[in-house]
Amino acid sequence: MTDKSLPFTQAQLETIVAAVPTPFHLYDEAAMRRNAREFYSAFSWVPGGFKNYFAVKALPNPHILNLLREEGLGGDCSSMAELLLCKATGITGENIMFTSNDTPANEFRAACELGAIINLDDIRHLPFLEQALGGRLPSVLCFRFNPGLLKAGNAIIGKPEEAKYGFTRLQLFEGYRLARDRGVKRFGLHTMVASNELSPAYFLETAQMLFDLAVELHRELGIHLEFVNLGGGIGIPYRPDQTVVDLVNLSASIRGAYERTIRPAGLDPLRITMECGRMITGPYGYLVSRVLHKKATYKDYVGLDACMANLMRPGMYGSYHHITVPAREGGPRKTYDVTGSLCENNDKFAIDREIADPAVGDLVVIHDTGAHGHAMGFNYNGKLRSAEVLWSGGTQFRIIRRAENYADHFATLDYPGLQTSVCAP
Ligand SMILES: *Cc1c(COP(=O)(O)O)cnc(C)c1O
Repeated sequence: MTDKSLPFTQAQLETIVAAVPTPFHLYDEAAMRRNAREFYSAFSWVPGGFKNYFAVKALPNPHILNLLREEGLGGDCSSMAELLLCKATGITGENIMFTSNDTPANEFRAACELGAIINLDDIRHLPFLEQALGGRLPSVLCFRFNPGLLKAGNAIIGKPEEAKYGFTRLQLFEGYRLARDRGVKRFGLHTMVASNELSPAYFLETAQMLFDLAVELHRELGIHLEFVNLGGGIGIPYRPDQTVVDLVNLSASIRGAYERTIRPAGLDPLRITMECGRMITGPYGYLVSRVLHKKATYKDYVGLDACMANLMRPGMYGSYHHITVPAREGGPRKTYDVTGSLCENNDKFAIDREIADPAVGDLVVIHDTGAHGHAMGFNYNGKLRSAEVLWSGGTQFRIIRRAENYADHFATLDYPGLQTSVCAP
């Protein structure tokens, strides 16, 4: 079970809303910092050191990246924009993991110029990378392993054997051999086969699989891995009846596997890294919106001033996001479809959901939007992307991204009248 009460009071929320028009995403700074510290503390036993490279795509805002950098996190990038965000925030060198697929040459070059650890998605990217870098390879390389039928996947990533990512087992051994023979000195091994996974057993199994591979690679190729990267994918309890992953227990079980596998093989110390995004920021973000309309036809509807452009997960994956109506909690409840205004019937934050019965004008808070929330936004129907606000406790808050306006929206159209006809929000 997970407590879904809000960390801020209704009065604190009203103070923010008086200054920032809805909808916006509100992030809880203290909770993000506390969570990052607990994560690191759980893995403090790792002899070679532990690091989480925050998956930048989950919440690509430099103010957040900076806060996470202060807590010791690196950045996991998969695109040029994400590299630029890390660079601007002072996340550089081997604090960046570049895990990309179908990668353009210029992005490989940019990542190498920043000194990032390159994580290759395919064996054919070895010669491609070498050519992109003018005939050399970086001194450190990591390969992404796709275990195929050896491991079950889950709903978001799908079955590993049908996922586009990573090397097969044979390609993995071939890849390390090729890279070793071309003078690469330092190696890592990576996998990422699940997303939003709440079962600790799943991550233990992943760790064991990578530890076993580390031993085999050492035996067969004489390669001494410097680190294994267990990927991201630790889930969060979106639903009140789900339970948060116990990091202390998870870490202890991974430690057991390490003691049984890595230490006896003489591969100690081995660094353990991860690239979680969702569990780092997800639970600490809230989409704050207001009820625009209520409607009763064949079903009962609550229409918000936020829409799928602000949070795509319910419409795209059918994901559950908890909904609180601060002014009405404890009062009568009623079942609604909670919608946005897009001309798309899947623009619904919830279907047949019992919520505290709101009135038109009430604030509605949608939970767990701190990862893959604002980041997945889009402009369909000309909907503008919302602001992002960092809440630092009490009535302290800071706008860390302003809302888009129509001038932003039309900025790439060179057509008379559009740039200047900026309507009031
Ligand atoms: C998306 C992604 C992550 C982060 O996943 P979360 O579910 O947010 O933890 C990490 N690594 C890679 C390669 C990814 O594509």
